[in-house]
Amino acid sequence: MSDVIIVGGGPAGASLAVALGRRGLEVELYEQAVFPREKACGEGLLPAGVEALRALELDAAVGGRPLRGVRYHLTGGSVRSGFDAGELRAHGIGQKRLRLDATLWAAAAQSPRVRAAAGTRVDALLHDQGRVSGVIVDGEPRRAGLVVAADGSNSKLRRKLGLERLGRPRRVGIRAHFRRPRDAQPLSDIEIFLRPGYELYVTPLPDDELLVAALAHEHLAAGDLRHGFEHWVSREPLLRDWLDGATQTSELRGRAPLVSSTRGREPAGLILLGDAAASVDPITAGGLSLALVSAELLARHAAELLTGSVLARRRFERARAGLVRVHRWLGAGVLALAGRPRLAELARRGFSAHPSAMQALVGLAGGIRA
Ligand SMILES: Cc1cc2nc3c(=O)[nH]c(=O)nc-3n(C[C@H](O)[C@H](O)[C@H](O)COP(=O)(O)OP(=O)(O)OC[C@H]3O[C@@H](n4cnc5c(N)ncnc54)[C@H](O)[C@@H]3O)c2cc1C
Repeated sequence: MSDVIIVGGGPAGASLAVALGRRGLEVELYEQAVFPREKACGEGLLPAGVEALRALELDAAVGGRPLRGVRYHLTGGSVRSGFDAGELRAHGIGQKRLRLDATLWAAAAQSPRVRAAAGTRVDALLHDQGRVSGVIVDGEPRRAGLVVAADGSNSKLRRKLGLERLGRPRRVGIRAHFRRPRDAQPLSDIEIFLRPGYELYVTPLPDDELLVAALAHEHLAAGDLRHGFEHWVSREPLLRDWLDGATQTSELRGRAPLVSSTRGREPAGLILLGDAAASVDPITAGGLSLALVSAELLARHAAELLTGSVLARRRFERARAGLVRVHRWLGAGVLALAGRPRLAELARRGFSAHPSAMQALVGLAGGIRA
């Protein structure tokens, strides 16, 4: 019997496995896919996520293109803020999920006390006397003191427990990669275009690549997000400029729903982590850092949680909810601006006149502590 079974080897599950193994716990990690694998994502990691990678000494292995800040393009112009806060030279990174996830998985698989099985789906949870006591893998029962479901925003385990709550209205996202000519002027910010009914999101990546994503409410995408993507990109002179001479290097790939959360409490013996606990709207680029930071948080609480302490569990739940809340508020604020051009113009003027206010919000989203 292991200490912890983790279902899902994405950023949340794999980084948790590394952290727990290093803390001396016996871990089983199951992932249905085989790495490297693609995942539709905006591929921008905020400073808090970079810090979490650094704490695991995986930042160099992950690599990536340093991101200096975020620029919002609104109807009347743009506002930008850097990730730097005073003396602190914080930065984000742009890195392909193909590389990020494979690196984290490899680190987990090589960690002491971690048994990592890729291409292995967990089919169900085991219950004993009202608590979750393990999982069923390939028809075989596996037991542990704690089961962590890090199985993503479409978490089947959460659905089976009746804990799923989907965001309304449903939002959808799609993305593609482009390689720019070698001599193209490099970009170093996450660039977000807020337009009525949709948003475009651009992340600079290593090797002269750019990721372009479109996010929209399902009914506005009219069921044809691919067409929307091409049309919306063609309407942005700046984006067309950046993509001048570029070649598309990946298929358009989408994901829905973008936002989901949990209703009620997980049963004893089970913790939901990362997107499985709550996926936040990608407009704040927060999901990956939330996954990494909440994995770090869970690793710190794991020994206490394994004793079955109800107090430790409440402390963990409160801290996890606090991390999510920041992105929920910021996401709601940004989307409110996207749908209201006049309000957006007021906000743009306000932020231009008071850059420290924008700096504070970007710092909050990025988890930057000066
Ligand atoms: C369009 C879009 C753009 C985004 N842009 C950004 C961005 O720029 N920055 C950012 O920080 N976040 C972004 N996000 C959010 C980010 O992708 C997620 O927050 C992040 O992937 C969460 O990591 P995770 O490990 O919790 O889940 P996932 O990455 O979804 O990993 C879950 C893993 O569990 C596995 N799994 C599922 N079920 C089982 C099972 N039964 N058995 C075994 N394995 C299983 C899956 O195969 C998967 O590998 C974006 C999301 C979307 C949709």
